[in-house]
Amino acid sequence: MPCGKSCREGSRQKRERLAGVVGSVAMRAERHIIIVGAGIAGLTAALTLDRIGVGVTLLEQASALSEVGAGLQLSPNASRILIEQDIGQSFRTAAFYPDSIRVLSTRSGGEVANLPLGAAFAARYGAPYLVIHRADLQASLVAAVTARGSIDLRLGITVTSVEQTDSGVTVRLASGETFSGDALIGADGVRSYVRTEVLGGAAPRYSGRLAYRATIPIEHTPEPLRSVTCVWMAPRAHLVHYPVKSGREFNLVAVAESEWQSEGWSTPVARADVLKALAPDTDEVWPEIPRGLLATPTNWTKWALCAVDPRFTWTKGRITLVGDAAHAMLPFAAQGAAMAIEDAEVLAASLKRERDVATALKAYEAARKPRVTAVVDLAAANGRIYHLGSVAAFARDAALRYLPPLFALNRQDWVYAWRSS
Ligand SMILES: Cc1cc2nc3c(=O)[nH]c(=O)nc-3n(C[C@H](O)[C@H](O)[C@H](O)COP(=O)(O)OP(=O)(O)OC[C@H]3O[C@@H](n4cnc5c(N)ncnc54)[C@H](O)[C@@H]3O)c2cc1C
Repeated sequence: MPCGKSCREGSRQKRERLAGVVGSVAMRAERHIIIVGAGIAGLTAALTLDRIGVGVTLLEQASALSEVGAGLQLSPNASRILIEQDIGQSFRTAAFYPDSIRVLSTRSGGEVANLPLGAAFAARYGAPYLVIHRADLQASLVAAVTARGSIDLRLGITVTSVEQTDSGVTVRLASGETFSGDALIGADGVRSYVRTEVLGGAAPRYSGRLAYRATIPIEHTPEPLRSVTCVWMAPRAHLVHYPVKSGREFNLVAVAESEWQSEGWSTPVARADVLKALAPDTDEVWPEIPRGLLATPTNWTKWALCAVDPRFTWTKGRITLVGDAAHAMLPFAAQGAAMAIEDAEVLAASLKRERDVATALKAYEAARKPRVTAVVDLAAANGRIYHLGSVAAFARDAALRYLPPLFALNRQDWVYAWRSS
């Protein structure tokens, strides 16, 4: 069998013998795992597995990890894990810590709820609520992976063949090169090859909604919006905005209903089309501030929002899934990346507790499924609430205005205060 320098041979004995020759830390580990995909899920899993002494080979199809995606909000259930994995100064510098989350309604033109963040919030949950550009988070994770010196990160490798036996898993490339390990983790995103082709899971479902994303210089935004996260609710649409890049840039995500579908993070779209999509045939008018924000960017891109029903079986023997590959969800609870980060922590805890790899992967899935399913349902419910129109929107706004901020916070506790058991 033709084998590159990196080749991992099937049996553990052979790997251990080779370890003496090659001298790689990863090769010396008692258990070795292959992760497919170096997005947020794959990179975080590489760090948590490395921390417990599991050898990791991380295979990514992109030949360079470029600036894709846009802003991410990270709540304390996820930021705590990243801080504990010590992902470093670049992460702390790139993050921005908003003062509050403001919920506004286009129907009433103003704020209907306000959730203070900041010191008291961080103390309550033991970690901060932060916002960061996806590319900055990915770069910080890559830097941490590289700094560990023990994780074998390979770029430009598209996995298209996986074989599983009783003793291990082998990835075979078209070139003939192989990578073998005790297990394989599919962290290859919403259109996962591992889920659909290896595990026989379903293709993602299009939600009928599009996300339009753009970033603009912070100076082009009204001063009071520069330190907060805002959600504007409108009939059949909504707009979310917050600062990224340590507060130097401003991230806009607008969601509207559409039949358009395509793959990829960043299909360019004309500003006129965004404005048309967000002003659907209703009497509702967007207030001046969000209208001004929507009219500013010249770099809008669109992204078809797809979801994967998490209720299917993620694990077969020595193969399982993490992140969007297992449970891509609508972004309306801002928890997709957060759930990927939690997955990584639970997977490592399960492999630390349980020697047998297949048993550990099953236990990981059992531990994650109820929580992930509840978060998927929360995101879908938020989408319905944000997009209400006419009388229902009026009732929603009145109810939100009436509720004390502590009530809103208490309702989020099960998401933000999570700890792996
Ligand atoms: C509009 C929008 C807003 C969002 N906002 C938030 C938010 O505020 N907070 C939050 O927590 N989440 C948010 N999310 C969700 C978040 O972006 C995703 O959940 C997260 O990025 C998923 O990470 P992942 O690593 O699972 O998948 P991905 O980021 O898709 O990474 C998968 C990786 O696998 C690689 N790959 C794919 N196939 C192969 C193959 N065959 N071989 C090798 N490599 C392969 C890809 O190149 C990619 O690098 C948002 C999503 C959207 C669309």
